[in-house]
Amino acid sequence: MSSLLVRQFSCLQDNYGFLVHDPDSGETAAIDTPDADRILAEAGKAGWTITQIWNTHHHWDHAGGNLALKQATGARIIAPSYDRGRIEGIDTEVSDGDVVMLGTRAAQVLFTPGHTLGHVIYWFEDDAVAFVGDTLFAMGCGRLFEGSPQQMWTSLSRVAALPDNTSVYCAHEYTQANAHFALSIEPDHPGVKTYAHEVDRLRADGRATVPTTIGREKAANPFLRAADPALRRALGMEDADDAAVFAEVRRRKDSF
Ligand code: ZN
Ligand code: FE
Repeated sequence: MSSLLVRQFSCLQDNYGFLVHDPDSGETAAIDTPDADRILAEAGKAGWTITQIWNTHHHWDHAGGNLALKQATGARIIAPSYDRGRIEGIDTEVSDGDVVMLGTRAAQVLFTPGHTLGHVIYWFEDDAVAFVGDTLFAMGCGRLFEGSPQQMWTSLSRVAALPDNTSVYCAHEYTQANAHFALSIEPDHPGVKTYAHEVDRLRADGRATVPTTIGREKAANPFLRAADPALRRALGMEDADDAAVFAEVRRRKDSF
């Protein structure tokens, strides 16, 4: 079995588009549809034919290209059941625990409400690859447009429980701003400092900071470290529960 291939490219202002390809079957899925024309052009460059579209959530920068891409390719659209009334062109609804196939490859669906109430992520366990949409960002997480801090904390905890070596494909290039926010809370945290320094260097070279890994995020991302005594000390919240610490970090980021 040859390995799963991922093609990543910039879309719109700061989104990433992803094409995931199973060489054994020839199947290709577009993860979300930020820009149908751009996605088609990238598939053409790779010599891949898009057979499926997998949506993470209903926001326009994730599902706005669904119908155009479906019309151009005949791809089947897989999307969260919660979003049936607000994602166009759905063929198959999925919810937590479902398995979706890309040819010979299996991806598990994890329900991760918080950014929106329907958000799901797709995890290829055997390939150690996860497409996390706007749930987890490198050094950040999605804004709470619909869910509560408790919901998002539960969702992020499930994502953080994936194996450390999992490659994490976030849907936006927000890392540099996120890292500077993290430094504002913990200016002396060695992991945060190293991470921020590396991100500054990558961005100065015009390079992507995505994908990241679960292990890397657990070591530095303040949105995953609500239980960490160092972060709690920095916030003056030694005795609060994890969800309350997470909520405070999110609140500070919203006004950073
Ligand atoms: Zn979104
Ligand atoms: Fe988005």
